Amino acid sequence: MNLKPRHLYGFAFVIVAFFNMTAYPQQLPHSFARPHEVAVTHLHLDLQVDFDARRLVGAATLTVDRRTDASRLFLDTNGLDIAKVATVHGTELAWELGQEVAKLGRPLAIELPAAGDQVVISYSSRPTAEAVQWLTPAQTTDKQHPFLFTQSQAILARTWVPCQDTPAVRMTYSAKIQVPPQLLAVMSASNPQVKTATGIYHFEMKQPIPSYLLALAVGDLEFHQLGSRSGVYAEPSVVKKAVWELQDTERMIAAAETLYGPYRWERYDVIFLPSSFPFGGMENPRLTFATPTILAGDRSLVALIAHELAHSWSGNLVTNATWNDFWLNEGFTVYFEQRIMEAIYGRDYAEMLARLTLDGLLDEIKDLKARDTWLKLDLANRNPDDGMTAIAYDKGYFFLRMLEEKVGRETWDAFLRTYFETFAFQSMTTEGFLKYLDEHLKVEVDVRAWVYSPGLPDNCPVVETEELARVAAAAAAFLGGKSPAEISEAFQTKDWTTHHWNHFLRSFKGGLTIDQMTRLDAEFKFTASGNSEITHDWLLLVIGAGYEPGMQKLEAFLTGQGRRKFLKPLYEALAKTDTGLVVAKRIYEQARPGYHAVSTQTIDTILGLNDDDK
Ligand SMILES: [Zn+2]
Repeated sequence: MNLKPRHLYGFAFVIVAFFNMTAYPQQLPHSFARPHEVAVTHLHLDLQVDFDARRLVGAATLTVDRRTDASRLFLDTNGLDIAKVATVHGTELAWELGQEVAKLGRPLAIELPAAGDQVVISYSSRPTAEAVQWLTPAQTTDKQHPFLFTQSQAILARTWVPCQDTPAVRMTYSAKIQVPPQLLAVMSASNPQVKTATGIYHFEMKQPIPSYLLALAVGDLEFHQLGSRSGVYAEPSVVKKAVWELQDTERMIAAAETLYGPYRWERYDVIFLPSSFPFGGMENPRLTFATPTILAGDRSLVALIAHELAHSWSGNLVTNATWNDFWLNEGFTVYFEQRIMEAIYGRDYAEMLARLTLDGLLDEIKDLKARDTWLKLDLANRNPDDGMTAIAYDKGYFFLRMLEEKVGRETWDAFLRTYFETFAFQSMTTEGFLKYLDEHLKVEVDVRAWVYSPGLPDNCPVVETEELARVAAAAAAFLGGKSPAEISEAFQTKDWTTHHWNHFLRSFKGGLTIDQMTRLDAEFKFTASGNSEITHDWLLLVIGAGYEPGMQKLEAFLTGQGRRKFLKPLYEALAKTDTGLVVAKRIYEQARPGYHAVSTQTIDTILGLNDDDK
């Protein structure tokens, strides 16, 4: 349907909200769905992308599997305007929206027809839908056309699609998306490679996926082939740079297949989004969504692609059953990422990454509540985004690396390959994994101490790299009075990679004087760096020292991109002092309209701006 009856939708919503306020109990964490009664098995979306109204308008047709004699289907919604629910033949069905629950939205209960297994929900998303970011032309790289992208993980799919928004449910999906004719639409599905004259695009995802992997992007996009089954989408001015940066993608796919079995999703493409994308990458199946901040010009930040590709096994194939089991997605993925990087760039290079990861993890553990440092999280009554810390990722990684070191790589790899084959296209709980581990791998260690206790157990692997030991020596030499020029000469810094520089800058956590900052900057040109990882680490030192020549760069970096990983530590560092907080608020006021909701929620909290704690 291509009409835009949005005023009607608003009216319907008011009526429903007024009369129907039933409180439905949650059967699953973070979801109102009851898939054990009635499960959604297929979704068909027919949506029009209305850039003027900032709404997705149309219908979702859900095919269900009735598993009991329950007569009602329960879905998750958050801020959707529901116009009508009917059978595919047009017979209206009774429905109601239940009481709003903070962060979760409202359950949609639908009376199923006596016969037939499909329901059609006519609806519209709202301009405030948290998953969807609508960018003006000015907020894109090429400044010519508007852009839209979604970010559904963890529980934001329900802000643009009525669905069973839990990773415990999988469905196939298809879609017909109508966009303005000069734009291209892509999804986490089979994708077009050229624009159509009509602006109508059709999509199909034949492999069953959880709702958090539903994804849509619309913009002035170009496609370039990388290899026989991989390619890149980006705005015209970005696409060449992106193709160059991702040259190793086919090798990464091959390396991953050698380790963990066949790639099950046919194509592997990457889309580079405008810089407000809140994450480094999102592993939307068949189409990784990526931040342009990894386009460093020297291929130094492509570990992110290895990470998102690895999710094609860990996460997308075997999926965490609840967000409390998030480490099953991310810990395995960081482990795979390391192995892919090692296979392509060698052990020494990968070990530098592992060491930086360990240092970051130890730092973060200090700032977290003890319970939040268990691998098995407890996110009841919390936003599942609270679980996106280094614990799921990096403690998870070191747990798996410890297991590998205990049983040997050959045994471990065979175990992993069988695990992913056995549970492909299924959800997994922490307990399910531990049971499988107990049954299939003889390992003489207390694995539960990693999962159900805080911090890092004593048997955490030690990572020593000669390269980074040299970097630490260089940093110590500088603090001991050697000039940056002498350091450069003695340690051959011209050959250093991003990892070397990250480690170097992180060696100065105790802070530097203005004089030290000035001398470092003169020799190594940190303020002028175009590498986002180096810039981030340098700006933390800039804030700590109050180094005035770096402040303009800080402002440009905070307003120029919206990646939460970079924003959070910088705003936190600013917010530590009264004067810094004033600066932070001034910059944020300007930058906030350009950030995705995932980032604004975090920064609002850091700056004390969200009184209603939504
Ligand atoms: Zn990940």
